[in-house]
Amino acid sequence: MKKLILLAAVLPTIAFAAPDQTAQLRDAALKDDVAWDITEGLTTEIGQRMPGTEAEARARDWAVKKLAGLGFANVRIEPFDMPVWVRGEEKAEVIAPFPQPLTITAIGNSGATAKTGLEGEIAFFPTFEDLQAAPDAAVKGKIVFVSHAMKATQDGSGYGYYGKARFVGPNVAARKGAAAIIIRSIGTDSHRTPHTGNTNFDADVKAIPAAALSNPDADNLERMLKRSPNVRLKLTLTPRNIGVRQSGNVVAEVPGSDPDAGIVLIGGHLDSWDLGTGAIDDATGVAITAAAAKRVMDAGQPRRTIRVVWFGAEEVGVFGGKAYFERHKDENHAIAAESDFGADKVWRFSTKLPDSAAGINDRLAKALFPLGIVHGKDVAGGGADVGPVIRSGVSAIDLDQDGTRYFDLHHTADDTLDKVDPEALRQNVAAWTAMLSIVANAPENIAFNRP
Ligand code: ZN
Ligand code: ZN
Repeated sequence: MKKLILLAAVLPTIAFAAPDQTAQLRDAALKDDVAWDITEGLTTEIGQRMPGTEAEARARDWAVKKLAGLGFANVRIEPFDMPVWVRGEEKAEVIAPFPQPLTITAIGNSGATAKTGLEGEIAFFPTFEDLQAAPDAAVKGKIVFVSHAMKATQDGSGYGYYGKARFVGPNVAARKGAAAIIIRSIGTDSHRTPHTGNTNFDADVKAIPAAALSNPDADNLERMLKRSPNVRLKLTLTPRNIGVRQSGNVVAEVPGSDPDAGIVLIGGHLDSWDLGTGAIDDATGVAITAAAAKRVMDAGQPRRTIRVVWFGAEEVGVFGGKAYFERHKDENHAIAAESDFGADKVWRFSTKLPDSAAGINDRLAKALFPLGIVHGKDVAGGGADVGPVIRSGVSAIDLDQDGTRYFDLHHTADDTLDKVDPEALRQNVAAWTAMLSIVANAPENIAFNRP
């Protein structure tokens, strides 16, 4: 008898339990075609989207049509100005003692050689730290070569360490009086596809020619240097600064029902380097976030406004992220997240949330475990574009893709659509859909510094 009463008390709960909408949306997203359609369209109809160029402008127009067509509200371009650097001719050859061509590509913001090229002796440094420690006399008038082979990691954390050779190596070499610098590509492949990327020179430093060698070419040059300390190189690089041009962020929204609940800011960057077609960096990022936002939008109006931003000009100095922050910093952002690490499967999530929203971690874990995603212990940092917003004190969520093969392709001519695994792309959309469904509808406060 007692048993029966208990059963009766429990039954209605079972019968009327609300279906788990997040789980339903997540599972439906595993059949998503929207993200593939965006990635395929952008890489086919636009191709490379170098910041501040006419190609990036065409991509913005394409994006506006696409996002409006998907049903987003308030679709618009928010323009900003930026200095533009464009690639020229790029050639390197060993003159002596083992004459042969090398495969290189200029690094963003590289200075130019004369049209007829520049010849010099190589000053070899196995690591960036070796260059830093070198006396000026070891560098002056020479072509610096920094060779520091990056190793692949699942979380991509090697980029910050090995990347210094590119981020600041050229500036350090220029300060010491180098004529030019070549670095081993910041990449983990062994193909003749050099990796470009940005560097910056201090305002009081004249930009020197700076280029990246493919990994096999760096290996070859190291072998030559073992045989002879006097290797001479001829380098021809003719990039140009073409002045201030317009770039812009493309913004689209899913208006929420509660204007006081804050904005959920998500996105990726629309621009790309010019060597490939910017498939994994970052067509997939803008595609994943927009596809997920559309799925939540189509399921009914969320509590919070979801703002999807396809940032411009990330690659050459996060101009879009900074412009967005300047324009929107006084708005109520509840939380921000970004997808800019390819489209292999998400394997881990991390958060940065106030205590009032600690329960969200459990709901995220429950929704993401079925996709094979673990709860990381790191504090979420967002990404480059949403970085300024997050650093101003806004909550954050990271959905980390497996980065094991990301730096095989990153910033190379090989960053093309065929490298995107459609099944992994769908898993990304499912993870983002589940996350958005939870945070956009969360009843609790998820913003820092708000009661
Ligand atoms: Zn990127
Ligand atoms: Zn990039």
